[in-house]
Amino acid sequence: MTDLPPPPARGCREAPVLKERGQREVFCGLTGIIWLHRKMQDAFFLVVGSRTCAHLLQSAAGVMIFAEPRFGTAILEEKDLAGLADANAELDREVARLLERRPDIRQLFLVGSCPSEVIKLDLDRAAERLNVVHAPHVRVLSYTGAGTDTTFTQGEDSCLAAMVPTLPETTARELLLVGSLPDVVEDQALALLAALGIGPVRCLPARRAGEMPGVGPDTVFALVQPFLGETHGALVKRGARHVAAPFPFGEEGTTRWLRAIADEFGVSPETFEAATAAPRARARKAVAAHAEELRGKSIFFLPDSQLELPLARFLTRECGMTAVEVGTPYLHRDILGPDLDLLAEGPVISEGQDVDLQLDRVRAARPDLTVCGLGLANPLEAEGLATKWAIELVFSPVHFYEQAGDLAALFARPLTRRRILKLEAA
Ligand code: SF4
Repeated sequence: MTDLPPPPARGCREAPVLKERGQREVFCGLTGIIWLHRKMQDAFFLVVGSRTCAHLLQSAAGVMIFAEPRFGTAILEEKDLAGLADANAELDREVARLLERRPDIRQLFLVGSCPSEVIKLDLDRAAERLNVVHAPHVRVLSYTGAGTDTTFTQGEDSCLAAMVPTLPETTARELLLVGSLPDVVEDQALALLAALGIGPVRCLPARRAGEMPGVGPDTVFALVQPFLGETHGALVKRGARHVAAPFPFGEEGTTRWLRAIADEFGVSPETFEAATAAPRARARKAVAAHAEELRGKSIFFLPDSQLELPLARFLTRECGMTAVEVGTPYLHRDILGPDLDLLAEGPVISEGQDVDLQLDRVRAARPDLTVCGLGLANPLEAEGLATKWAIELVFSPVHFYEQAGDLAALFARPLTRRRILKLEAA
């Protein structure tokens, strides 16, 4: 990889981390259902929650008018402890009704939420009880998407971590890609790995229940999303080994991610070059088209999606931006270490949230671009600061070579808009 820029003399792996433990403003983990239900085509997500949860899902996911939806909310009204037996019976009845009506469902996730009456319900036990009735046709699992203890991307992490113990044991030497990607992007990754001669490759989550991968001591896994700390731990516990690498954002991130896997599978430099040269060149060209707008501009990441550190690495190294502060809700060094190594020392690295203090620092720094949650974007825009919604980065296809240009464009667009508005006003 002689043509990749070398790592900085000093990266951020050993940089001091500012720990924040204050008020948070993020979406809850239920948000993950919006992309997970698209990915797992025979799964149903039944949120056990309040009307607020139902509204969040409806407004965030949009109403699926032509399709039978594959998520819903079992609304639990205020219940005292004595009413819990009824609540369990009610849940069992709801599930039975749903599964009778929808024989296409092969996986059912009971998704916990934060209203106190839901917290009193033991959804793990409910899933066990329901499995006795509905397995093997349907596998019932549970996880929490509660806003009290999650950021919005932790919903996917909790969901995948809940699946890991149920995966069959295997002794096969297989590569497991972990994290949900849009199908078209996943297909690109699989094609790149096939061109490198790497296989068999399995995905978690699989698109269908019957395709779920096995896991065992000869499984090596590569994460495609940086927010999968719990899933990482669950896979390691099953004996699988993690291939640590920078995340596949941008030309460099994708190349280093592929190279780490290629090294694991003994792929020759010649094969690697032959498989990656053309898409790398396309990615470089596509990024360059937007990097002009980004070069020399400063960026501030408020902690939100957990994609912040890999994205800061991409924007500073491939687009010429300067990171002022990179906040992340959680800093998993096992997962983010390779990205920290590549991010040149300089920015404040912060972990956790204390929204008022962080906003004070944004106002003091007045960065050219602030990446933040939806709720913070409007007030900052009103103060004359350009913003980018962090959630958009999770909803958009941004991984691997073919999306590298689109990823840069997502950051360039608000700056271009601002420049044009200024020109028009002048
Ligand atoms: Fe709100 Fe909690 Fe329901 Fe999320 S899980 S929508 S934070 S009540």
